[in-house]
Amino acid sequence: MRRFAAGLLLLAAACSGGRRPDVLLVTVDTLRADHTSAFGYELPTTPALERLAARGTAFLRCLSQHPETDPSISTIMTSRHPRETGVRENGAFLPPAFPVLAERFRKEGYRTAAFVSTYLLKPHACGLHRGFDTYDHEMTSANLGHERFERRAEETVDRAVRWLAGRASPWFLWVHLYDPHGKYDPGPALARRFYRDRGRPDLDPSRIVPYQRTGDSLDPDDYTARYDGEIFRADRALGRLLKAAGRGALVAFTADHGEGLGEHDYWFRHGSLLDRAALHVPLVFAGPGVPAGRRVPSLVRNLDVAPTLLDLAGLPPLPGARGRSLVPEMGGTARGEPPPAFAEARRRGGVRDRTGVDTRYKAAVTTPRYRLLLWPETGEARLHDLEADPGEERDVSAARPGVAARLRALLEGFLALGDAVAPPRRAEDVSRALRGLGYLR
Ligand SMILES: [Zn+2]
Repeated sequence: MRRFAAGLLLLAAACSGGRRPDVLLVTVDTLRADHTSAFGYELPTTPALERLAARGTAFLRCLSQHPETDPSISTIMTSRHPRETGVRENGAFLPPAFPVLAERFRKEGYRTAAFVSTYLLKPHACGLHRGFDTYDHEMTSANLGHERFERRAEETVDRAVRWLAGRASPWFLWVHLYDPHGKYDPGPALARRFYRDRGRPDLDPSRIVPYQRTGDSLDPDDYTARYDGEIFRADRALGRLLKAAGRGALVAFTADHGEGLGEHDYWFRHGSLLDRAALHVPLVFAGPGVPAGRRVPSLVRNLDVAPTLLDLAGLPPLPGARGRSLVPEMGGTARGEPPPAFAEARRRGGVRDRTGVDTRYKAAVTTPRYRLLLWPETGEARLHDLEADPGEERDVSAARPGVAARLRALLEGFLALGDAVAPPRRAEDVSRALRGLGYLR
C-alpha cells in the first residue's frame, strides 16, 4: 500500500489534474542488455533507447524469468511465474484465471491495443490477446520455413503509429518487436556497419543451429554483426514509435530474454541455459513520475514491470502479482536487499542436444552476488559467484556451503509454488512453427 501511495504522489506531481497517463509498453525479442549501447555496448546499436534512458530511469540489472518468448511475455503481462500459470513453453495458452495488464487498463477506461511481430504471439498460440480492443498479429515475413512467421519492426511500428494518430487518452499500447531473434538478417549494409573482427576462430558447423545458418558463414563475428544490425533496426523503429507516443506517455521498455553468443559454447540460441547471456535484459521506464537520467544498479525482474506500470499510472496491482513496484528503487528510497530472481528453462528432450548443450530441466535463483543452478531431477547444483566470476565458469558450492544451502532452500520454495501445465491447446500450425525453431522435435 505504501508503494502504491508513493506512485500516486509522484504521479500527482507530474500530471496536472490527476489525469491518467497514456501507457506504452515495448518488448523486444531476444535482446541482450549488453548488446545495447544504452547499457554500455561499445557499438551504437540503440540510439533511441539511449535517448529514452536519458529522460527516464534505466535498471542496469534486470533479469528475465524464462528464456523463451511465450513464458517470459506471459510473466511480464501477469507478474506471475510460468510455474504458476503453466505457460512454461512456447505455444502454451495462458489460462483465463490469471488477470493480465491489458484487462486492468481496459477496466479503468483505457483504449487498449497490441501490435506483435511473431507467430508465437498469435492469440491462439499464447492467449495474450485478452484485454486488448485491438490485437494486430498479421505476420508478413518468412522465417523458419514459414511464409508468414514474423513481421519486421518497420511494419509493426507503422501500424502502431497509425493506431496512435488522434487516439483519445488514456490509451495502453503494447508493441512487440522480433527482429533480433534469429535468423539474423538486417540486410548487408547493417551487417557491414556492425562488423568487428574480434579474431575468433571459425565455428564447427555443428555448433550453429540450422535456422541460423547463413550461406557458408562460420565466422562468429559475422553472426554477431548481423545480430547487432537487427538490434539497430528494431531501435530505429522504436525511435519513430516513441515520437508518435509523445513525451507525455509513460513508457516501459524491456526484452523477453537474451541470446547466447558463444558463452558456455552456446551459439546464437536461447532456451536451454540460465546464464547472464540468457537472462540479463534491458529495462527502462520514462515519462510522468519517472526520475530522469537515473541508472539503478539493483537486481530487478521482468515480474516487476506490470506492478511498476500500474503504480506509476495510479492503479492497484494485479491480484496475486509476484513482482513489486520499482517506484521506490527509482526514487532511491528502497531499503534492504532486493528479492531474489527466479528462472527456469524447460526440459527439451534428452540430456544433451546434437550440439552438446545441456537440455535438462533446470531452475535458477539469483541474488545480487550469487546464482545457484539446480537440476531438480538429479539434485545436482552449481553455485556461481557473479562478482568474482562474471563468466559463470566455476562452481563454488564446496567453498560456500552456507550460501549454497540458503539459495537451495529459496529455490525449493520457488519449485513448491506450483507445477502447473497450461491446457495443451497447441494447434498444428503452431507446432509446425515451433519445429522450425527447434523448440519441438
Ligand atoms: Zn523470445
